[in-house]
Amino acid sequence: MKLTVVGTGYVGLVTGVCFAEMGNEVWCVDVDKEKIQGLNQGKIPIYEPGLEDMVKRNMEAGRLHFTTRLEEGLSLSLFLFIAVGTPPGEDGSADLNYVLSVAREVGRKMEKYVVIVDKSTVPVGTADKVREAVAEELKARGRSGLEFDVVSNPEFLKEGAAIDDVMKPDRIIVGTDNVRTAELMKELYSPFVRNGHPILLMDIHSAELAKYAANAMLATRISFMNELAALCEKVGADIEQVRMGIGSDRRIGNSFLYAGLGYGGSCFPKDVKALIHSSREEGLKPTILEAVEEVNKRQRQIFVERIKGYFGSLRGKKLALWGLSFKPQTDDMREAPSVTIAERLLQEGALLTAYDPVAVEVARLLLPSEGITFTKDAYEGLKDADALLLITEWHQFRNPDFERIKSLMKAPVIFDGRNQYDPKVLRSYGYAYFCLGRRQCI
Ligand code: NAD
Repeated sequence: MKLTVVGTGYVGLVTGVCFAEMGNEVWCVDVDKEKIQGLNQGKIPIYEPGLEDMVKRNMEAGRLHFTTRLEEGLSLSLFLFIAVGTPPGEDGSADLNYVLSVAREVGRKMEKYVVIVDKSTVPVGTADKVREAVAEELKARGRSGLEFDVVSNPEFLKEGAAIDDVMKPDRIIVGTDNVRTAELMKELYSPFVRNGHPILLMDIHSAELAKYAANAMLATRISFMNELAALCEKVGADIEQVRMGIGSDRRIGNSFLYAGLGYGGSCFPKDVKALIHSSREEGLKPTILEAVEEVNKRQRQIFVERIKGYFGSLRGKKLALWGLSFKPQTDDMREAPSVTIAERLLQEGALLTAYDPVAVEVARLLLPSEGITFTKDAYEGLKDADALLLITEWHQFRNPDFERIKSLMKAPVIFDGRNQYDPKVLRSYGYAYFCLGRRQCI
């Protein structure tokens, strides 16, 4: 089948490449000329394991094209995917400008039937707006007779495991109001569900809301565990043991039950905000979601306060940050806890070194330019450090050389924002070790 994917970011690029991998011919479109130029030269704009090889393979096979011109693929495509950003507006609502601008461009340029598939995360009612925007442009061209359909097909991939998630999804949600598009979407997606996982057909509004509901549920689990972690510290319980105690319950399961520095990234924070906004707009009070957000913000403050509490003053203290991206296996720094934490520590007068296996180049653009030295090696920044701060739980930080760390630092002090280490082991090495919600850590 032939399809165009508009927006060549984390979602659009990975989705487009995976469709090509299944034998489809795909045009990936972006307004960012540099990005498209780079991709045409084999330069991958994001860090995503396995992506580079897959892009190369499919470009060489002639199934994957990168272009800034929407019309190039549109004239040949049966499907047009919208995968542009939906960042939060000032009031927390999803900014639909990018989505609607693509819809208008499609209306201005389409010459034949196309299924417009909304893959961006958008509030309920967006498909209707997309339909209106396309129809208006067609009318202006005197081409109102041209047929098109609009489908909601939210994306559930996780950065860092995006290819696997797209190739073997837990489920595919298709929100549609007619049988024709339901059948076409099933045909397009059937190679991805050979594992027996379902294609869930539903109405468009439910599909749109399901995406927000999924992210809000996962964010809620994280904040719930962080709130419990604070209680654990007060009553002498250990959040890691509580986690195992509840995660083994099949009704609950183990995912997203980790206490730490809270959720970040390009999705959870903005999607929780957007759902809060939608609820308020409908005259509802989103009590749970407001609390989820508040706990998440507080978690970063607790971490900084803990460091401050230990040293008294942070003025002139040299602190080494391990990990900057919002989670491991990605260079995505959007809403990363490292940004707020680093800013607060700098305000308190600390001097920072920072190491991340892949996110440094992106981090440089977001973090203050003064007071931080980025290092190429994890151990380099530890020289004469007053404390090591574990911010992102990259694999390489799981079992580091604790003797070497100790020998480099001014004093052996670790603040573990991800509860990665065993407090007993760290004590046995002679560290002052601080984590979140665990016995012997406080
Ligand atoms: P992104 O910012 O990485 O990429 C968006 C791309 O769209 C950019 O390259 C931008 O230049 C391009 N773009 C903007 N306007 C355009 C236009 N008019 N024509 C062509 N290209 C245009 O965004 P992302 O992380 O891929 O997210 C895209 C959507 O998918 C968002 O709604 C997001 O919430 C959702 N989503 C993201 C993830 C994730 O993990 N990143 C997961 C699931 C869903």
